[in-house]
Amino acid sequence: MNRTAPTPTIHLTEIFYTLQGEGTWAGTPAVFIRLAGCNLACDFCDTDYALRSSASVDEMVARVDELGGACPMVVLTGGEPLAQSATPALVDALRAAGRRVHIESNGTIFVELPHDVWLCVSPKERVDPRMARRADEVKLIVDRRVPEEHLALFPEHSTIFLQPEGNKPNNVALAVEYARAHPARFRLSLQTHKFIGIP
Ligand code: SF4
Repeated sequence: MNRTAPTPTIHLTEIFYTLQGEGTWAGTPAVFIRLAGCNLACDFCDTDYALRSSASVDEMVARVDELGGACPMVVLTGGEPLAQSATPALVDALRAAGRRVHIESNGTIFVELPHDVWLCVSPKERVDPRMARRADEVKLIVDRRVPEEHLALFPEHSTIFLQPEGNKPNNVALAVEYARAHPARFRLSLQTHKFIGIP
């Protein structure tokens, strides 16, 4: 009997089809896969990354087809999407199915990623320098201060987005002021999806 081995299991918070609201790709349709769990426990975290369901990698690829149709872009977010051992298999399967994979990571876990995977690193308490070097964009969450601690790890040419926490006016004002003072390296990123009430 010819049995095909099951593909690895992904632990999931949610999957939905929306537009990327932040950073370089703001406004671009994308299927978002929020993977459950995180390896950090930031005290300011307000992200829901609870485990709600599990599915095989093949089932996840089918779910992306079902939700996103021909949409090229799939975003793996979390929690921390690279904390699951099955994530590289999911990345490979999505690429094999013709999707462009984006990963939103805290940058603490080193994973060798294919060159065509877009990596957004949002530094928290620490960053693996190899992930900093690999980042295509950097997202600093501005919450009453600009968290500059790890910036020296990122290449000079990397685009650094300043994203005001919660779109709060005082955080927006600080991010705008900072970008204006450092125009060569910093850009403002607003959570545009929140303005129009989409996930
Ligand atoms: S890294 Fe992100 S998801 Fe994880 S605890 Fe910190 S803020 Fe929350």
